[in-house]
Amino acid sequence: MKSEETTKSYNFIETIVRQDIEDKKYEGRIHTRFPPEPNGYLHIGHAKAILLSSGIAENYNGKFNLRFDDTNPITEDTEYVESIKKDLNWLGANWEDRELYSSDYFQQLYQWAVMLIKKGKAYVCELSAEQINEYRGTPTKSGTESPYRNRNVDENLELFEKMKNGVFPNNSMILRAKIDMCSPNMHMRDPIMYRILHANHHKSGNQWCIYPTYDFTHGQSDYIEGITHSLCTLEFENHRPLYDWYLDQIVEGDYRPRQIEFARLNLNYTVMSKRKLLQLVKEKHVLGWDDPRMPTISGLRRRGYTPEALRIFAEKVGIAKRENIIDIGLLEYSIREDLNKKSQRLMAVLNPLKLVITNYPEGQSEELDAVNNPEDETMGTRKVPFSREIYIEREDFREAAPRKFFRLKPGKEVRLRYAYFVKCNDFVKDENGNITEVHCTYDPASKGGKSPDGRKVKGTLHWVSINHAIKADVRLFDRLFSTENPNIVEDGKTFKDNLNHDSLTVKPCYIEPFVKNAKVLEKFQFERTGYFCLDKNTSENKLVFNRTVTLRDSWKKK
Ligand code: ATP
Ligand code: MG
Repeated sequence: MKSEETTKSYNFIETIVRQDIEDKKYEGRIHTRFPPEPNGYLHIGHAKAILLSSGIAENYNGKFNLRFDDTNPITEDTEYVESIKKDLNWLGANWEDRELYSSDYFQQLYQWAVMLIKKGKAYVCELSAEQINEYRGTPTKSGTESPYRNRNVDENLELFEKMKNGVFPNNSMILRAKIDMCSPNMHMRDPIMYRILHANHHKSGNQWCIYPTYDFTHGQSDYIEGITHSLCTLEFENHRPLYDWYLDQIVEGDYRPRQIEFARLNLNYTVMSKRKLLQLVKEKHVLGWDDPRMPTISGLRRRGYTPEALRIFAEKVGIAKRENIIDIGLLEYSIREDLNKKSQRLMAVLNPLKLVITNYPEGQSEELDAVNNPEDETMGTRKVPFSREIYIEREDFREAAPRKFFRLKPGKEVRLRYAYFVKCNDFVKDENGNITEVHCTYDPASKGGKSPDGRKVKGTLHWVSINHAIKADVRLFDRLFSTENPNIVEDGKTFKDNLNHDSLTVKPCYIEPFVKNAKVLEKFQFERTGYFCLDKNTSENKLVFNRTVTLRDSWKKK
């Protein structure tokens, strides 16, 4: 254990883990896992679960498994397997050589099912899906026993074998555990263990036409792998008695994994259900699973998020026992924290207004020194070209400005970052009254933006030299949904009615030439306008940047 941990406070799961280590439970061994179903891309909620489980293994000298929970061939795909591995890798979770699949345990699970039948604890049931539902009762009303519940063992064995051999069509029968139709826990009312599915499995192909349910798979897979702490979200709390019941039937010896639940991550203005995210992709409301507006790990990565930012975020959110909704501002705070320290600064103008320095010689230019990152001296400086005609942001000039407007206005002087003081003498309008040019004079003695005589200017503007600028596209994002909880909908509407139709704006921008050598996924701070990341679909002729986040929490102002 790391020494600084002695003063740290621990979340409730870590407290349990530490106690178990002290008590020599599992001989002091710690082994966790992350069990995604490969039926979609991972999202920020999964990132929280991954960082928790892999982090515990890492901090307590344990092991961490990646186990694909692939028991439903209909919705699963190898594309998802690949994306999941890429995301875990990127997050820094280390499963070493333990890339495991529940489907590899199908034979063992089958044998355990046969064993349960032999013990009189499982039976083949031919009720229809509707009947099963009906017989199950409700949380306040006991269930009714299936007429097939008391079939004899031999008949059950024979039918189950025939199910396995493909004799019966889909949905004609199931294998159920014989537990208690009156249990107050609905999951214990003779839950389904196996269903018939004549379908091609992404890994086992056509080898099986019966598939175990999540409940009949999960605990046993944990057991096979020697998992000690099986961490999952609260929706599985009611499944825990069943998890333990199945283990009771099969375990020999003392060891058994322990399931512990924690609150899932919910973010406002975001949907997190894989089913809903899949709809957004399929119906082309977004550009794909990795659309930078998506809460997927691949979307966040493309947007410019870093693994470190997600760690900062997970740390701030903490591990709770109760559901809550986290403000998306916390995620943005986390990425600012990280990028502020790391990112190269550049000047880029998003809404250009031409500024002419009338006393600067035509055809002349010079190179000025600019600091790459004021937070990190080791990043050094760069040269920025300056000339007679530059762009500034349109918002940085006002013809009639209030007294407190410290940027450029007629008769006033401002600093051009790293360059000179300039004073506005005049401006030009087109026939519609729009300002097309601002005319200034510069003070050659203020080179580097330093005051030559102690006189002060309040405003400092970023700028780019028009002749030297690189034209690029920037994609500015707003929230994908316009309501705080997009899952809440009126009758007849769906979560998609809560989509924000102005969540993506693409516009040209002008960037200083240093940007030429930017690499895909490289992150920059464009001074005063935000953090930006070079998109994967960029070309030498047209750089495309995604704005990761603005510099301050700009949402609050709305
Ligand atoms: P579904 O089961 O509906 O397909 P899922 O999001 O639960 O979707 P899984 O692949 O089953 O997807 O999830 C893998 C693991 O991630 C589970 O252990 C689950 O508890 C955890 N998990 C899922 N969503 C969240 C979330 N929002 N916050 C934290 N952990 C989550
Ligand atoms: Mg799930």
